Amino acid sequence: MRRHLEDMERLCGIDEALDAVTRRHPPLADIATSCALLMQARAQAAQALPKTSLLGPQPDASALAERLAGGVPLLGPMMDSLGSAGPELADRLRQAARVVLPAAAQAFPALAPELAKLAVRLDETGQGATLAARMLAAIAPGAGEQAVQALAGELGLEPPALFIAATESLMAVLMAEAALLSDAVDQQSWRQPYCPVCGGGADAGILKEGSEDSEFLIAKAGQLWLHCGQCAALWRFPRMRCAACGSEDPQQLEILTFDGDLRAEHERAQLCKACNTYATMVNMVDRTDRLNLEFLRISLLPLELLAQQRGFRPLAPSPWNTLG
Ligand SMILES: [Zn+2]
Ligand SMILES: [Zn+2]
Repeated sequence: MRRHLEDMERLCGIDEALDAVTRRHPPLADIATSCALLMQARAQAAQALPKTSLLGPQPDASALAERLAGGVPLLGPMMDSLGSAGPELADRLRQAARVVLPAAAQAFPALAPELAKLAVRLDETGQGATLAARMLAAIAPGAGEQAVQALAGELGLEPPALFIAATESLMAVLMAEAALLSDAVDQQSWRQPYCPVCGGGADAGILKEGSEDSEFLIAKAGQLWLHCGQCAALWRFPRMRCAACGSEDPQQLEILTFDGDLRAEHERAQLCKACNTYATMVNMVDRTDRLNLEFLRISLLPLELLAQQRGFRPLAPSPWNTLG
């Protein structure tokens, strides 16, 4: 789907997306600018990483298909063993950190000195690799907040600096993996509410025209594709189903939009009254404007606030795994 959107010239760069958000929602300028810096660096770091997957130069296609058939994301086993990351993953984290840390320092000036200290330590021969592996262990799903605090304490750093450095760098690594592995996902059969590549949760969705099949009878208004907040992969999900609780009861699902703003009408939150959560999405059907998938979450923040004012919560983090 990403390639399709690229071919249709429906995607734009972060700069263009940032500009659009800032014009429409001036109060978001600061947070949007910081996020844009991070996302640009993440994408740049991902692009500079090796073009072979951490799963090997030629992963066994049937083994991967079997993994997905069992509901396990392609990188599931790797994410499960972040606590004891191998040298290749640790090395890629260091490579990504070289691009991501300076951008994070710019995005969060208060953390800049801490991030600079960490960058120096990560670059040390020998010690740097060990530190990268320990950073991964500290943010491993299930490691708990105290793992980051303990490592930060040992290094003499503030926990938020360590957390941002580790998660942003790992997300760059995951993004590179998604670019290599997305084609291995059979979009006709993966129906989980978490990412088929890394297991992360959706940070936003898009509705896109597409042929319907029996499971998507109601999808005349477009197929729903969810965007992974960790690795930026896209996957298909039934449009009228709550990604949090699985409810498909039309009585429980309600669409929330802004009134009075023509453009904003295409931005919507699906509210689920069964579990009190919302999921945000943009309707791209019959439209020609361009968007940036990584920036969608930021563009939709005002709608998120509206949903929260109505008493709804964001989708819980992915049931599969969530970093840190
Ligand atoms: Zn993912
Ligand atoms: Zn629900």
